[in-house]
Amino acid sequence: MAQKRDYYEVLGVSRNATEKEIAAAYRKLAVKYHPDANPDDPNATEKFKEAAEAYEVLRDPEKRARYDRYGHAGVEGNVPQFHTVEEIFEAFSDLFGGGLFGDLFTGRRSRRPRRGQDVRADLELTLEEAARGCTKTVRIHRRERCNTCGGSGARPGSTHEICRQCGGRGQIVQAAGMIRIQTTCPVCRGAGSLVTEWCPDCRGQGMVQRKVELDVHVPAGIDDGMQIRLSGEGEPSLEGGPPGDCYCRIHVRRHHLFHREGPHLLLQVPITYSQAVLGATLDIPTLEGTEKLEIPRGTQSGQRFRLRGHGMPDPRGGPRGDLVVETYVEIPKKISPRQEELLRQLADLEQKDVTPHRKTFLEKLRDYFSPPNTGSHTSQEESS
Ligand SMILES: [Zn+2]
Ligand SMILES: [Zn+2]
Repeated sequence: MAQKRDYYEVLGVSRNATEKEIAAAYRKLAVKYHPDANPDDPNATEKFKEAAEAYEVLRDPEKRARYDRYGHAGVEGNVPQFHTVEEIFEAFSDLFGGGLFGDLFTGRRSRRPRRGQDVRADLELTLEEAARGCTKTVRIHRRERCNTCGGSGARPGSTHEICRQCGGRGQIVQAAGMIRIQTTCPVCRGAGSLVTEWCPDCRGQGMVQRKVELDVHVPAGIDDGMQIRLSGEGEPSLEGGPPGDCYCRIHVRRHHLFHREGPHLLLQVPITYSQAVLGATLDIPTLEGTEKLEIPRGTQSGQRFRLRGHGMPDPRGGPRGDLVVETYVEIPKKISPRQEELLRQLADLEQKDVTPHRKTFLEKLRDYFSPPNTGSHTSQEESS
């Protein structure tokens, strides 16, 4: 690491320089070595940082005293490491923000008028509304240009006084050596004059809070958590920039039948034991009405069937999702004497004609309770 230069030497001031002299010397160097003013000189940024570090120590009476007594070792670890030019400006905002420097280097960015603030809104929909698409009204709070003062913040008819910073020109010229930079006056923001009396309605803000109703066009198929941008429906920009936008967040209410899974809708349908065994034609509710669904003989609990194209539309214009029907066999908790009679007859038959899964289970059960290492049962299990 290179030997650090003496901080007084860096700033070009004597060891008994006053705080004012130190600040003035630093300002001069900051202008001279500012990277914006030296695009072709890679050393400028280093010099700029070196000056910032020196100033950071010498501006602080306590750090300066330690530096005077012990040199660089006295302030080691107490000096911030500046990595970017922005960090330096942030650290010394008191020095640069005081007027003359305010817009000098940030001017490049702030010259373009800022756009208005974005606002947020929430919109609750039913699943049917989300599926069909709809137009809804949302109520939002946003600031709007004050009618009383037209956004200037000044009491109507009040006088303006000439900005002393720029003498009414709205521009200031910062000169250091050979460099002269003209920027917007940071005090009056280019207006050249200052308000003497605030507008009573907005207290000088230029904007007042209002309640507004906006129509939101909801595209078919929109999903919970999506946002609709209402372009230009945010707050106005008093600097002449474009207005902000309104972001409307969608909340889709839970439906008592359909459960949405992306583009698809899931519907759970209870069937009877005999429907499951014999197969059946079911009337399936959809978002548009009803559809017939044939379930085959031997339909299981948890089996899924697809009604293609009966799910949610794609808000981006893609293909429509499916309606997924999931059957489950509902076991009745109460039955009539006649049902019981028939079921007992059925039970007798089931003893004779065992279903495949039950058969396997009974075999496993027999293995489980039979003595180990018999061999023959194991091979039987493997083959089944
Ligand atoms: Zn006003
Ligand atoms: Zn001014």
